Amino acid sequence: MSAFPSRALSEWFRRDHRRLPWRETYDPYRVWVSEVMLQQTQVETVLPYYDRFLDRFPTVEALAAASEDAVLAAWSGLGYYSRARNLRNAARRVVADHGAHVPDDHERLIALPGIGRYMAGAILSIAYNRPFPVVDGNVRRVLSRLHGWPEPKERTLWDTAAAVARAGEPRVMNQAMMELGATVCTPNAPRCGECPLRRRCEARKTGAQAEIPLPRKRPPTVRVDLHAVLDRNRNGYLMREDRGLWEFPMLTDPPGDGFLHLGHCRHAITHHRVEVDVYRGALGRRKGYRRVRFDAVPVTSLTRKIHALAETPPNQR
Ligand code: SF4
Repeated sequence: MSAFPSRALSEWFRRDHRRLPWRETYDPYRVWVSEVMLQQTQVETVLPYYDRFLDRFPTVEALAAASEDAVLAAWSGLGYYSRARNLRNAARRVVADHGAHVPDDHERLIALPGIGRYMAGAILSIAYNRPFPVVDGNVRRVLSRLHGWPEPKERTLWDTAAAVARAGEPRVMNQAMMELGATVCTPNAPRCGECPLRRRCEARKTGAQAEIPLPRKRPPTVRVDLHAVLDRNRNGYLMREDRGLWEFPMLTDPPGDGFLHLGHCRHAITHHRVEVDVYRGALGRRKGYRRVRFDAVPVTSLTRKIHALAETPPNQR
């Protein structure tokens, strides 16, 4: 990797990186929160949540002291709620076992809930400037094209990324690779003319950018049909709690006569496509359900979509 153009890459990053709030600090807790939010979620979606979450829980102690309900409420709408639960549980461990200091060694970090190899590498390199690799989808694409590997093995990618992290200042090298993949070496139509790696890039030399890397095989999408019922009276909606988040009754069959069909919404989660028909009507008492005020409880974005249908005038649904 001695030929790796680390200088060109770091100069490009220092000059051209997007100014994002989590890049204004190397505070380990803030770096950690941003990385958890950015897993499986786009930058634009994360932006408003990041500041709000840190206003609410400005330190690892504040997060550790918060109730799970409060953390889920602040996460409400970001999706993948196990991330929020793990983050809070890990914060409690950091306070209890590490004196509120986010560990700066791999072994202790990776032992915390929700922290895997990528997350440990991101925290160690970005917050502590230690030469640990990161491989996310962006880094995978850049490395694959740079070396002309259509289907690289995970091991090869991590070893190569480790050499990149060591080729310069780790926090700059790793962030630069991720940023390059997000903004220049994009899946479609990479802008090779602006790329600091262009002189060494195998895919560019052979014009094979579109074929590298080959898409990874994903499990086929599974369609799930559900029927949500909005049953509201003066005490609120009929809802139930599932691991800290509240949801409307979801039936596998239509509720039948006496229910007004309000519309349809769709939601994608991992490899499921959930198709939901939404109805209004009275279900009556149901085991495990109770009346709650919608605005007072944390909900998933699917539940929010379903609720929005009830609030939308019929001619705009
Ligand atoms: S030269 Fe093009 S294909 Fe190669 S790393 Fe840069 S943007 Fe990606």
